[in-house]
Amino acid sequence: MSFSSLGLRAEILKSIARQGYDTPTPIQLQAIPVALQGRDLMAAAQTGTGKTAGFTLPILHRLSADTSLSVKRFKPRALILTPTRELAVQVHESVRTYGAHLPLRATAIYGGVSMGPQTKALKAGTDIVVATPGRLLDHVNERNADLSGVEILVLDEADRMLDMGFIRDIRRILSLLPKKKQSLLFSATFSEEIRGLAHGLLVDPISVEVARRNAPAEAVAQTVYPVDRVRKKDLLVKLIQDHGWHQVLVFTRTKHGADALARHLDKSGISAAALHGNKTQNARQRALDDFKRLKVNVLVATDIAARGIDIDQLPQVVNYELPNVPEDYVHRIGRTGRAGAEGAAVSLVCIDEAKLLRDVEKLLKRPIEKRVEPGFEPDPSIRPEPIQKPRAPRASPRPGEPSRKTLGAAGRAHPAPGRRSAPKPGNGATRHSGTRHH
Ligand code: AMP
Repeated sequence: MSFSSLGLRAEILKSIARQGYDTPTPIQLQAIPVALQGRDLMAAAQTGTGKTAGFTLPILHRLSADTSLSVKRFKPRALILTPTRELAVQVHESVRTYGAHLPLRATAIYGGVSMGPQTKALKAGTDIVVATPGRLLDHVNERNADLSGVEILVLDEADRMLDMGFIRDIRRILSLLPKKKQSLLFSATFSEEIRGLAHGLLVDPISVEVARRNAPAEAVAQTVYPVDRVRKKDLLVKLIQDHGWHQVLVFTRTKHGADALARHLDKSGISAAALHGNKTQNARQRALDDFKRLKVNVLVATDIAARGIDIDQLPQVVNYELPNVPEDYVHRIGRTGRAGAEGAAVSLVCIDEAKLLRDVEKLLKRPIEKRVEPGFEPDPSIRPEPIQKPRAPRASPRPGEPSRKTLGAAGRAHPAPGRRSAPKPGNGATRHSGTRHH
């Protein structure tokens, strides 16, 4: 996948080429199409993933669609908030670099330097303001900045801004922005506080993520139940009932399989909903909300559908079928047992999946405990059958469902080459040492 296939305008592609980048990073592949559509975005991405271009490129593209609205109005049209002045400087630099061939102006606003030049730049008119919250409010108080024309807002490294105690400043700034705007929230971690902020700010957001834990949490107990393919449904019902699982995320390989299984569970008296990309955004959201509120106890999802949504810290994950890609197993079970919480992952494995199981165990570098459920002993006379492959990805994924190819790249690719190290936190800020994966 190249940058030109993302639909960015030629002037921007020229700047990207000049940087020597030919392939978008995973976060760019996921975030840029969503942002170009004008959708709100919640992105889990750390420094070093190429996230800055992930929001800068679509902002430049969208603002340059109508430059008649630009500097003449003397109101910034895009606001990017960052926790530190170092980051503000870097992001401003990126905006200038990628926007070098566009008639847009950008200004960096941060503390620790005199207000004069910043005031001048603001008063001269600027399209894009990259700012730390405190100094921006100083300018607002001095009536140097009018935020009522902001069309696009970015909260960059939102977790760090909250760690640094900026929540009140951020809320104040949000209150000065128009209600109708596009908001993009980038954060390496998603605490309750971030979620609260996102909840009040983002409208029907698409979630994307690139950070991926490559080792499953020690806290996740993993068990494989060998079982015949035709008996999986009944074994699942039995396990759910015997263990009294009240909130289970079940993974199937196909959308059709997800629907069929959800129907079977419902018929067996277990409330279940299916979540996959064939459903409308509203239906997906409803299923998810019901699951979170325990109105349905089982959510049956495909990998792709589960990846774009915000659910984690579940007590129980079930692999109704093993994924074709072993890394997906790690990702699936990463939905449970986070942050020291106890979690359990159960996989129902039939003879067809022997190789997939070997691949998973190879990746984990250890075997997974096997447990045969009495009454569900596999029949040794059953021969393996080829596994149904998921359908080829659509040419253009719908919002919230990045293509299989994209996600595969997101999962396995490493951050872009030439990445810089994380900027040093200013103001004595502390940074999360361990990055949780979401
Ligand atoms: P960031 O995560 O935004 O701080 O970016 C990390 C580094 O990756 C920066 O040095 C960028 O210049 C670089 N970078 C961003 N996008 C790409 C890309 N598509 N290919 C190669 N390097 C990139």
